[in-house]
Formats: sequence, C-alpha cells, structure tokens
Amino acid sequence: MEVRGARQHNLKNVDVRLPRDAFVVFTGVSGSGKSSLAFGTLYAEAQRRYFESVAPFARRLIDQVGVPEVDAIDGLPPAVALQQHRGAPTTRSSVGSVTTLANSLRLLYSRAGKYPRGQPQLDSDAFSPNTPAGACPTCHGLGRVYEATEQSMVPDDSLTIRERAIAAWPLSWHGQNLRDILVSLGYDVDRPWRELPQKDRDWILFTDEQPSVPVYAGLTPAETQRALKRKAAPSYMGTFTSARRYVLHTFATTQSALLKKRASQYMVSGDCSECHGKRLRRESLSVTFAGLDIGELSRLPLGELTDLLSPVADGTAKDVAALTREHPEKALVAQRIAQDVLARIGVLTELGLGYLALERPTPTLSPGELQRLRLATQVRSNLFGVVYVLDEPSAGLHPADTAALLRALDQLKGSGNSLFVVEHEVDVIRHADWIVDVGPEAGEHGGRILYSGPLEGLKGVKASRTRRFLFDEEKPSRGERRSPKGWLRLKGVSRNNLKDLDVDFPLGVLTTVTGVSGSGKSSLVSQVLVELVAGHLGHVMPEDEDEGEALERAVVRTTGGRIDSGMEGIKRLVQVDQKPIGRTPRSNLATYTGLFDNVRKLFAATPAAKARRYDVGRFSFNVAKGRCERCEGEGFVSVELLFMPSVYAPCPSCQGARYNAKTLEVRYQGKNIAEVLGMTVDAAHDFFSEEPLVQRPLAVLREVGLGYLRLGQPATELSGGEAQRIKLATELQRAQRGSSLYVLDEPTTGLHPSDVDNLMTQLEGLVASGNTVILIEHDIRVVAASDWVIDMGPGAGDKGGRVVVAGPPEVVVDVPSSETAPYLKAALG
Ligand code: ADP
Ligand code: ADP
Ligand code: ZN
Ligand code: ZN
Repeated sequence: MEVRGARQHNLKNVDVRLPRDAFVVFTGVSGSGKSSLAFGTLYAEAQRRYFESVAPFARRLIDQVGVPEVDAIDGLPPAVALQQHRGAPTTRSSVGSVTTLANSLRLLYSRAGKYPRGQPQLDSDAFSPNTPAGACPTCHGLGRVYEATEQSMVPDDSLTIRERAIAAWPLSWHGQNLRDILVSLGYDVDRPWRELPQKDRDWILFTDEQPSVPVYAGLTPAETQRALKRKAAPSYMGTFTSARRYVLHTFATTQSALLKKRASQYMVSGDCSECHGKRLRRESLSVTFAGLDIGELSRLPLGELTDLLSPVADGTAKDVAALTREHPEKALVAQRIAQDVLARIGVLTELGLGYLALERPTPTLSPGELQRLRLATQVRSNLFGVVYVLDEPSAGLHPADTAALLRALDQLKGSGNSLFVVEHEVDVIRHADWIVDVGPEAGEHGGRILYSGPLEGLKGVKASRTRRFLFDEEKPSRGERRSPKGWLRLKGVSRNNLKDLDVDFPLGVLTTVTGVSGSGKSSLVSQVLVELVAGHLGHVMPEDEDEGEALERAVVRTTGGRIDSGMEGIKRLVQVDQKPIGRTPRSNLATYTGLFDNVRKLFAATPAAKARRYDVGRFSFNVAKGRCERCEGEGFVSVELLFMPSVYAPCPSCQGARYNAKTLEVRYQGKNIAEVLGMTVDAAHDFFSEEPLVQRPLAVLREVGLGYLRLGQPATELSGGEAQRIKLATELQRAQRGSSLYVLDEPTTGLHPSDVDNLMTQLEGLVASGNTVILIEHDIRVVAASDWVIDMGPGAGDKGGRVVVAGPPEVVVDVPSSETAPYLKAALG
C-alpha cells in the first residue's frame, strides 16, 4: 500500500509504503500521530470508499464528516476497525450479543431444546429478552423491578414530616408545598413519623389520588385549620403527589441526570420475582437444554459452557443420545450448533476471556476486554483480504496473556488479512513484520515518519524515542524502596470472584496490584476498596458517574467486606479512572480542569468586552448570549445515520467555532476565544506566560504528557487514557495535603514507555508528599518500580480471586505460583 501526502491532524505531508498481508505496528509517543495515520487516514479513507460504493446518498454524509487529508492511497484493501471506544458507550449489549453467540444459543433452544409436554415449539425470538415474544411481562425484560418502599423513602422514622422524614420528596419549594398540603389535609406534621397511624403513612407515601387543596403559606397548623373553617382566601391551590408517585415519575421522566440519580436513591430494586432476573417469559424458561434453561446457561462462565457443550458436540452426551433416538434431526442440529459455538468460544478463551459469561453487560467490561471480544469474533468471521485496524489491543492484558493475543492476530493474518496495530507494548512491537515509527515528539513536533520497515532497521534511527526501549534493554532505575507507614486492612471481602478475602494495603507507599485478566484486580481495588473507603469517609460517589451506574450502585450496595483498621491514615479518596470526562462535545479539558473560567475572565476584562458590556458568561459556549445558536455551542451537529451509530459533524454555521460572530470580535492578545480553544496545551502554555492562574494547570497537563491536546478538544474525541490523565492533572494542580488515597486503574494505557516515565515521576511525587497510591497495572516496568506488589490470581474467574503473594518486587519474583514473577524477574534483571 502506498500513502502519499498525508496531512491529517498533525501529519506533515508524509509518504509511506506499507506491506500487505503483514502485521504492521505503528509506534511513537502519545500524540505523535499514530492514530491520525492508522485510523484518521488509512481507515477513514477505506471507510469513505466503502460508503461511496454502497450508497449514493452517502456522498452528502462524507462531505459532512469530512474526508481524510491525503493526496492518494494506492492498494488499500477494505478495512475493519477494532477501535477501543472513545467517549460514551450507549448500547445495551452483552457478551452474548456482541459475539452473536446469543443468537446461536437461541437457535439451539428453539430447535433442539427440551419442551414440556404439550408446549408448542418456540421461535428463537422467544428466547430473547429484547423482543415482545421473549420479554418477561412483569419486568419488561429488564430482570429487575424497581420499587419505592416506606423504608427506602423514609430512612429515619424518628423524624417528623416537618423535619423531612419523607426524604424522597423534593428539597426545593415543591417539598415545602407538599408539607403545607398535608397540613391543610389535617395530618400531624410535628409528630415523629413512626408514631403516625399506618393508614396515614400509607396514604401519604403510596396513594395515587392527587387531591387539590387550599394552601395557606406561612400559617401554623392550628391557624391553617381556622382559616379553612372560615373559608379564608388561600395563598394558592396545591396538588398533592404521594412520595412513591413523585419518585417513580421523576425517575421515569426527568431529563436531569442528577434528579434521576436522586430519585434512584429512594428506590430499592430486586430480582424480578416472575423471572428471577432471567428476563424471559415463563414459557421460554420452561424449555431446557442439558438440564438448564437459557438464562442459567447464559450465566455460566465460557469455560464451564465449554465443558457442558463438548459432549454435545462430539455426540457423547446422554441427552443427545436420547434425542438421536426420538428426533434424529434435532440431535443433528444440536451437534452442529454446539460445534460452532465451541469453536467460537475457543478463540475467546484463548484470548483470556474464558471467565466471562454471555449475559455479562458490555458496559461492565473494560475497553480492552471489549476490543478482544470483537477481535475474537473477527477471527472466526472468515473474512479475507481486509485490513484490521486495532488500537492498543494489549491494554488490560497481563504479559502472560499477550502471547495468546499475538496468536489470534497471527491467525487473522494467516487467513489472508493485513493488520495495522497502534501499540506501545514492547512484546507486541517485537512481534511485528513491519514497524512505522511516528514522531519524534507529540503534536506540532511530531507527525513525521521516522522509520518504516522491519524491526531491525529501527536500531539505527537516532531520532526515534521508541528505539531505546526496544534495543537498549533499559532497566528501570531502582530507587530506594519505601517502607509502609501503616496498613489499611480489609477483612472478609466478597465480590465477583473474591470470596471472603483478607487484604492489607500498605499506606504511604506506591502499590501495584497485578494479575492476569479476570483475576479480580478491579473487583478488589476499583470496586470494594473504593466503596469501603468512600463509605467510611462519607463521600458520595463521583458526580460524573452516569445514570446506569448510579442505578447499579443503588442496587449493589451490598459490599461484602469491611475495613478492620487503618482509616486514621486516610483523609481523602481520589479515584482517577478512565471514564470519559463528559459525554458530549460540550465538555473538554479546558472546562473540566477549570482553567477555562480564568481564560473567560481575561476575555471579559479586555477593553473591547468592557465597552460592549460582555461579562464572563458571554464567553461560555454553554450560555445563550455568546454562543452559536445553530449548534448551541457544541461546534458540532449530530448526523443520524441509517444502520450506523450517529456521528458528529462540524456545525455548518460556525464551522466548529462554537461562538457567534459578535463574540468572536473580542480579542485577547490578538486571539479570539475560539482560537484560544483551538490551541494545544503546549501553545497555550507559551501564550499565557503572563497569567499564572491559567499557566499553572497547563504546566501540569504537560507534565502528564498531554501537551499535544487542544484546549477545546471535545470529550468525545479523548481516549480513556487521556481522560484519566486529565483527571490526574486536575488533581495534581490542587494543593497537596497528604493523607490522600489515590486509586488508578491501568494509568499507562495509551502511553509510550517514555511517557510512562513521566507519569511515574508524578505518582512518585504524590507519595513523597505523604499520600498513598494504589495502581492496577500490567506494565512490568511500573510494577518493578513500585514499593509493594499485590499479585492476584493465580488464574482468572473461579481460578483466581486470591492474593498469590504480597510484598516488595524482590519478594514476588521468588514465588513460583505467581504468573507475574517471571516477567518481573526479567525486568529487575
Ligand atoms: P497518537 O495516536 O500518536 O497518540 P494522534 O494521532 O491521536 O496521536 O494525535 C496526533 C495529533 O493530532 C495530536 O496533536 C492531537 O491533538 C491531534 N488530533 C487528534 N485527533 C484530532 C481531531 N479529531 N481533531 C484535531 N486534531 C486531532
Ligand atoms: P481483573 O480486574 O483482574 O481483570 P475483575 O475484577 O474485572 O478482574 O474480574 C474478576 C472476576 O469477576 C471475573 O470472573 C469477572 O468476570 C467477574 N466480574 C467482574 N465484574 C463483574 C460484574 N460487573 N458482573 C459480574 N461479574 C463480574
Ligand atoms: Zn421478570
Ligand atoms: Zn455552530
């Protein structure tokens, strides 16, 4: 393939030749332009050609979405991207649906299942909770029912109604209004809730009646009763709404995530009593295969599903033998489907995903797991002659799992496909047939092809930042290991595959939690540890979590485990995760870090702004005054596509500037506000050199390797790793107080080894100022440089969930049962 004149994003009009049917890896520091070449140019062009060939109407679409900036690409095959999602995942899918294994199993149950006597055969649709034919009528296929109870809405029944016993009611004026209505209705709002007659309590909480009554604002209950008798003119007529009605209605209809979340706090949910969480109607669940209904089958980890289906596939299963006698055609169907399903599950287990169950919702998977899931699906798709474009497929993988990943990729290549892989992991890079090294630095200072050829040739390329990590065998500098200043001791931890586990986390040091994918690292650290500590500190969970998660949390709250001791050493908890910093182009790094507030103040203080009486609000794209009305300040409009997820295209009115023309006339040091948002962090750092309040957060962003991002780069364009580093930078710019606990999940995702070194310096700094840092991490250089290692495992799912060894790296290397030990030994040298 031959690319000429590529100029997408920061690419410097580059030419490059790439072999077909080969494993090509794109390397370079973060922001150097790897994705701009692999995804932004090669994949985008392949997609454009595809659109053009399938639908004439697509021309308009292509105009809107934009074509890649490139002069020519010859010999480009059709492309399939297996990109880790950026921004918000919106689909309600599961492992079964993404892999289409769920379809096969539905067919199996429909055609070869065991039906109760007299029940007619069901269509495969009847085994899907997403169809009217299959969905449980009680929970509408959700598997859970949400209900508001007295306990959930009145958490403290010693309070009176006036003291807000009914916590579920709104806090606003409306809450006062409802209390006033109760006064008019003659209820005693000054007696403790629990002393009110049950009949009254039930009516107040649960009635569907909505009486309209005169309200006398500001009068005491006695005065109100007298006013009613006199038929005095009321302040207004108020309409009553019971607490349950209010909660359920708000939950079902509000547009505000915050209100929805608040409502969810006053609801309890439980498994649907009709389907027991299996989401299907009774008839569908009455059909069994190998003694299990399809709901039970979907809950088995893939490894166990394999054990169950193997005898079916080779015809040795008892059930199949019986079936062969009565319905030979059914037996044949069962065998064929089982063989197909097994072959596909085989690839999934190969890729280290055997611990997943089919019903597992994809939003609970890490981006790396999801990508491997898609990859496994492709390996079995029998396509050939295409190029697969992948984004850091090693993310979330323990070094022990990387070999399997490489086998799957080789299999794709072996069936006649090309692979373009953006990667930082040295083992993957070494495996490539061809390296394209982009750089040398990020953004403006990158975008050149430093090398394109087989691995060995990169050795001689002086400018490459990748070279020394591949050839110099650089050992991590082993600083003095710090010793723990105390211990946070967790007892009886149970969650997912963790069963009654005791774990001690050292305080005042940097700890990494390691283990193969599925061993239980996230369950322990990101779930139980975070929830327990947050619970102790009385934190509410972060505001930016989405509704689904808020709901889940309202549901799960049954954290198995407790903190035995050590909380005296922790004053604050900071979880720095990879969730997007926002879900629309409206959020960006300037708004998230707060530096935009200061930028807007600078604009509002210019003589031009003062003359026109423009205040800081004028320079916000979230406020009607100054923004472009067409896109309401998003700079983008969403384009709905048939059969495809909708895409964002630049706003035709402001061309992405987000502001109206009047606002853009105001300039600070010669730049308008849109131009400032268009600057990279590096450029803005120079531009605002006189303004410490703006410059300081910019300096921290550079230190975590984000100098190449533009201030206004929409949250939807940021990778999970970038979002995480923005959160880290926001945290670092705060005054350091010490005694904070920082929890990070794989912070090296998306980072070139040389950027990892910078990140480590930042984390070391946090520990040096008296904080505790706990990382989930696979990067072995990071593990080797940490003070303490907690190695989970030994395997995944039921074969894991234990602490294999905990101690300084030097201790871990000597433990034979640790999967991490050999890699760590090599890294320590
Ligand atoms: P890498 O994949 O090497 O980390 P990218 O190709 O993502 O680097 O980024 C290269 C440069 O292009 C960076 O300066 C980045 O800010 C810029 N860039 C990335 N995506 C966009 C975009 N959608 N619009 C404009 N600039 C972008
Ligand atoms: P790791 O972080 O080490 O990859 P996890 O803690 O994510 O491992 O997973 C440990 C086990 O718990 C796996 O078997 C996984 O399938 C299961 N698990 C994790 N999260 C969930 C969840 N939300 N629902 C059901 N099972 C889960
Ligand atoms: Zn149900
Ligand atoms: Zn606009």
